[in-house]
Amino acid sequence: MTAVKLPSSGRLEPSVEPNEGESCYRHLYLVAEHEDGILLPVTFEMLGEARRLMDDFNSKYSSQEKVVAIALGDNIKKMCEELIFYGADSVICVENPNLRYPINLVDTKIISQVAMDRDHASQISPEYGRQFRKPRFMFFSADNVGRHLSATVLAELGSGLASDINKLVIDDLEIRHEHKTKGQLLKYEKILQMYRPDFSGFLWTTILCLDNRNPTIKREYHPQACSIIPGVFPPIRRDPSRQGLIIGHNIDSNYLNKQVSILSREAVKSAVEYDNRKAVVSFGRGIGNSPEQNIKLIVELAKELDAEIGVSLPISKKPYAVSEPLSSKYMSSDRVIGTSGRKISPSLYVAVGVSGAMQHIAGMRDSGFVIAINPDEEAPIKNECDIFIKGRVEEVVPLLLAEVKRQKALEVK
Ligand SMILES: Cc1cc2nc3c(=O)[nH]c(=O)nc-3n(C[C@H](O)[C@H](O)[C@H](O)COP(=O)(O)OP(=O)(O)OC[C@H]3O[C@@H](n4cnc5c(N)ncnc54)[C@H](O)[C@@H]3O)c2cc1C
Repeated sequence: MTAVKLPSSGRLEPSVEPNEGESCYRHLYLVAEHEDGILLPVTFEMLGEARRLMDDFNSKYSSQEKVVAIALGDNIKKMCEELIFYGADSVICVENPNLRYPINLVDTKIISQVAMDRDHASQISPEYGRQFRKPRFMFFSADNVGRHLSATVLAELGSGLASDINKLVIDDLEIRHEHKTKGQLLKYEKILQMYRPDFSGFLWTTILCLDNRNPTIKREYHPQACSIIPGVFPPIRRDPSRQGLIIGHNIDSNYLNKQVSILSREAVKSAVEYDNRKAVVSFGRGIGNSPEQNIKLIVELAKELDAEIGVSLPISKKPYAVSEPLSSKYMSSDRVIGTSGRKISPSLYVAVGVSGAMQHIAGMRDSGFVIAINPDEEAPIKNECDIFIKGRVEEVVPLLLAEVKRQKALEVK
């Protein structure tokens, strides 16, 4: 194991001199997420994207950098084999009964140590091992565990983090920046371009993690790391004939948390079940003119369609004064559709007064048939629906309701 010293700041520093150039950063490391040995779908998705990116990278740059999964847990050997079948070249397996459930403080220390371990890097690829300092790229899941862990690990590794990413490209770029390059146009190679929706939800932001090349503030920033939104990238097909290397990692017992031990854990199930529902009616801030009445109309429509109710994120923050039963039942985080909530795929999705921000669309894009009700023809939801009804909720929903009731009455006859 590479010697690491723990300075008073708590940040891990490698026992090698800096400035070995970009060749001391190698491979794409990702942190596998699982629930007691069962891998979560986001892990397969990260592996799929990592595989695609690194295959292109290796052919473009004539290199042989690897996809390396880090797995922490108890009794996870079989799980580590699955990581290989789904695209990892190597897995660093950290097994200990105390690691059965995630504990951020402990996992941060271990993952940071693993990510800088030069002995592991030498086993992963002997040709790159000698100079290895840190991973070139690093992926985490953008869920509750991964969002927290990615921030603390990257703080420990002394680099930056782009969160909630849903598109990735690796390329060379020419950059001129007042501080990073002191105004000079410089070429940066092998840069991970990390895309995410901006805070409005209607524009893309590209985030780069670049070394400071300005001589007065020179500093390297690796790994280039991000957390990845679940449900965005397709996994690759499981291939049990794939071969890979599983490396055991012995933990430094000082890193185990002696004060906290989790004796049992129960996953809290959401109060709202979307998986078995054929139809979902969602509402957004478009209900705002008369929220109480509009929510009642939407609830009635959902009932007639045998649909569950969803909401946009702002609605879950209770932006309108409505009666307590409606507020507590419908303006709830359990019902948010999108990157901050649920990803659903009903046969029918009705979006009432929802503008169609990227974060919302990511949660309903796989729906079968989409109807949007909105007075604004420029609303982005128009590009995501099969039928766009230009109109206000107060006017359109009563007409729809009357028609659904009429059709149902005809069916009975
Ligand atoms: C990190 C991050 C994560 C996010 N995650 C999510 C997420 O998971 N899910 C999510 O939904 N959002 C999410 N958001 C917020 C997102 O960017 C948008 O702000 C939000 O989706 C907009 O909600 P809305 O469509 O209800 O409101 P608005 O954007 O205000 O749209 C209201 C729509 O109602 C229409 N309207 C107005 N009057 C009427 C009427 N009388 N009848 C019918 N329509 C009317 C308007 O034309 C407009 O199109 C996130 C944002 C960030 C920064």
